[in-house]
Amino acid sequence: MSEMAGYPDSYYAATAVGVRDCPPLEGERKADVCVIGGGFTGVSAALNLAERGLDVVLLEAERIGFGASGRCGGLIGSGQRKEVVDTEKMFGLERSRELWDLAELAKQEIRDRVDKHDISCDLQRGQLVGIHKKRYLGWAKEIADVLATRYDYPFCTALNAEETRARVASNDFLEGLYDSKALTIHPLNYALGLARAAVERGVRMYERSRVLKYSRADPAIVETAQGSIKASFVVLACNAYLGDLEPRMAGKMMPINNFMIATEPLGEVRAKELINGRFGVHDTRFVVDYFRLSDDNRLLFGGGENYRSRFPRDISKFVRPYMLRLFPQLSDVAIDYAWGGTLSVTVNRLPHLGRLQPNVFFGQGYSGHGISIATFAGKVIAEAVTGTAGKFDVLADLPIHTFPGGTLLRYPGMVLAMLYYTIRDRI
Ligand SMILES: Cc1cc2nc3c(=O)[nH]c(=O)nc-3n(C[C@H](O)[C@H](O)[C@H](O)COP(=O)(O)OP(=O)(O)OC[C@H]3O[C@@H](n4cnc5c(N)ncnc54)[C@H](O)[C@@H]3O)c2cc1C
Repeated sequence: MSEMAGYPDSYYAATAVGVRDCPPLEGERKADVCVIGGGFTGVSAALNLAERGLDVVLLEAERIGFGASGRCGGLIGSGQRKEVVDTEKMFGLERSRELWDLAELAKQEIRDRVDKHDISCDLQRGQLVGIHKKRYLGWAKEIADVLATRYDYPFCTALNAEETRARVASNDFLEGLYDSKALTIHPLNYALGLARAAVERGVRMYERSRVLKYSRADPAIVETAQGSIKASFVVLACNAYLGDLEPRMAGKMMPINNFMIATEPLGEVRAKELINGRFGVHDTRFVVDYFRLSDDNRLLFGGGENYRSRFPRDISKFVRPYMLRLFPQLSDVAIDYAWGGTLSVTVNRLPHLGRLQPNVFFGQGYSGHGISIATFAGKVIAEAVTGTAGKFDVLADLPIHTFPGGTLLRYPGMVLAMLYYTIRDRI
């Protein structure tokens, strides 16, 4: 941990711009809305609420972007986490199309915010999905065709092995799917930029202000160790870091730890030989490998996860074999940073938004697809708080199941399920 900054010692923290210290909450205050959590969901909700004229306080237990938002892979895929062929099977074409269109708005929201607030966060275009398994051959073409014909999205191209290899120097991929309109981003700088915009719109932000409890009343009293906020509305944006703050939604998501490394700078030539562009890449494994180049030509690589309360002691040692499986040519390369973060998944990998009571809203469970969907969740929650619930309702109506075993016993079941899928992946 870099104590001065209060962030984990990641590549993102080392290259953060615009970190500002917000004071801890002290004393009793009032607000129209109290947002709890300073990741993409919370900061986006706060910004959108302030733009709609509300008086907003945001309370963050640690630092802005301290959670998954400031540690994640930075890949902004198109659509929802669940593929369109699956959402079509679940809901039919019309609703599946509606979910796709919302996800496109979510991507657009990021582009708009970055432009509007001039956020310096290395926004780049493109994403390649590398197909690692014979059984998935043909999937890329199928998806590209479905998206072009049924979703008006002609921006995906199926690549054969050679074309894929020309973009990513790994022998692991049998085919590829390239999406020219997906994005990548420096996630911590994006979170910090959104937070700056929110403060400029009048949001009062407090860091190192963990909410210990809040009353289920109207107005609600939200309490930290040294202060409290009396607020007409509460927005819960704690995601996988929720702990036992709100048992009414905890059992619908499972916190999962996921890990990343950043290599030393590879130099322009070697970096380009490895990945021929600044696009993001992920494979089709159940525990997904994902990676991209940083603007100083490092490989940022995510791979491996665990389902315990603790991270592995040596994260670099834990993730490196995943990187070398795809890129054995990097065996001589030093790892400069290694870190982990906690995300939350739902049983069916659809996002979980809702309203626990008339004045309490929440968004969580983005299942590894939260840069765009969490940003968007913040926006639609703000719309719902101010009386326009159309888009919020589409997401809040999605069926989200409780994990078998609830909060107490969900882990053993999850570990078994993960083991099963990981083994299946290898067959
Ligand atoms: C390693 C990793 C890689 C990922 N890669 C990608 C990717 O490439 N693409 C993608 O789209 N998604 C990715 N994700 C998922 C994505 O990061 C999340 O979905 C997204 O950041 C969720 O944002 P959030 O604001 O809801 O939650 P978070 O960013 O986790 O924020 C929650 C915040 O709430 C605060 N908090 C918790 N409890 C309290 C309390 N009691 N009082 C006050 N504050 C509190 C926490 O300190 C935290 O800052 C990844 C996640 C991880 C961990």
